[in-house]
Amino acid sequence: MQEKDFDVVVIGGGIHGAGVAQAAAAGGYSVLVLEKDSLACGTSSRSSKLIHGGLRYLETLQFPLVRECLRERALLLKLAPRLVKLHPFFIPVYPETTRRPWQLRLGLGLYSVLAGLTPDSRFRRIPTSQWDNTDGLETRSLSMVFQYQDAQTDDTALTRAVMKSARSLGARLAMPAEFIGARIRDHGCEVRYQHDGQDCVCTCRVLVNAAGPWANRILEAITPSPTQLEVELVQGAHIVIEGTLSKGFYYLEAPQDQRAVFAMPWAGKILVGTTEQAFHGDPAGAEPTDGEIQYLLHTFSHYFPAYRRLRADNILDAYAGLRVLPADADQPFKRSRDTILHADQPAQPSVLTIYGGKLTAYRATAEKVMERVKDSLPPRSPVASTRELPLG
Ligand SMILES: Cc1cc2nc3c(=O)[nH]c(=O)nc-3n(C[C@H](O)[C@H](O)[C@H](O)COP(=O)(O)OP(=O)(O)OC[C@H]3O[C@@H](n4cnc5c(N)ncnc54)[C@H](O)[C@@H]3O)c2cc1C
Repeated sequence: MQEKDFDVVVIGGGIHGAGVAQAAAAGGYSVLVLEKDSLACGTSSRSSKLIHGGLRYLETLQFPLVRECLRERALLLKLAPRLVKLHPFFIPVYPETTRRPWQLRLGLGLYSVLAGLTPDSRFRRIPTSQWDNTDGLETRSLSMVFQYQDAQTDDTALTRAVMKSARSLGARLAMPAEFIGARIRDHGCEVRYQHDGQDCVCTCRVLVNAAGPWANRILEAITPSPTQLEVELVQGAHIVIEGTLSKGFYYLEAPQDQRAVFAMPWAGKILVGTTEQAFHGDPAGAEPTDGEIQYLLHTFSHYFPAYRRLRADNILDAYAGLRVLPADADQPFKRSRDTILHADQPAQPSVLTIYGGKLTAYRATAEKVMERVKDSLPPRSPVASTRELPLG
């Protein structure tokens, strides 16, 4: 690293760190990203890989979030056609399904309205004659199947593509480079980090904390210590099974607790997820538990009888990611999934922390970050717009 002074230093090479680097570089600012391990090694490679509005967030009335994500989905389908693709999603309804057909019709109708009533956002009922064409889905007592469309990506590849775009605009990436600590000064921060085993120091006007589940650990290493938001880490696990789902994605209701669980085609296999379980400890240690694996296996085989003999030993892979959710008495499933931007001071922040968020909305989040910190930065001329930069 030649330079020592940056407008913006970003901690974390996940989707948010990459997004902020791209938005900052597009705004004409000098930016350095510190990633301690590899791009997307945290939550950004352990998601459900959906670029979606989040149909289920309508149940908790998170309309602005769903609308923003659907707009970002439409944009990513244009900017990253090789990385983000639409697929059919099926919702089977059985007598015991708690989400009744009228609720699903209402939800899918609203989802379509929030998506701008585009042809892609239409939904329909699958005729009974086509039920045999649903990858072996249990048809005994099946009463209805709805179909709509949503998108899938490769989360790691998307993160890399956004960082590549940021670097093409001049953003610098130090990796592996671990943030060690920072001191807030009059107009910005002095940042200490270890890069390739070397102690390094740089300065910046604004430090963006995009360390995902490590966010509060980062704040603890800053003096004077900025306030932290009280958050909970909630683990979500996925399992990968041998097999194919060639017709589409399945939106299933877990028989145990009625949570929504997805079964999806992924890299020639089947990906099933996810769970919600409180997590304590070092975020690097997030691993699926036996209970989570059983829960996902049971849910999947309940709807796909051909897999009823499947045991934990037959699983090809399993991974877990950590959601950063506001601490609350509510069950995680019902809590807001909005991104929270938390500044060390209201007027001219020196440190801005990103809590939570969606892979889908990373670009919109990054634009909000830049808007929030613009008064702390020197005037620069934008060189590009993230709304127009192709990815991948
Ligand atoms: C189970 C699960 C499923 C999800 N599914 C979806 C989905 O289908 N669609 C969707 O839109 N969203 C989804 N999300 C949400 C989305 O995945 C996350 O919001 C997003 O990936 C968070 O990215 P991030 O950049 O904030 O954090 P991370 O990806 O965790 O990145 C943080 C980075 O900071 C680095 N870091 C930490 N400490 C330091 C340090 N001291 N120095 C340098 N670097 C450091 C880490 O190595 C890491 O790379 C899901 C989340 C979970 C948990």
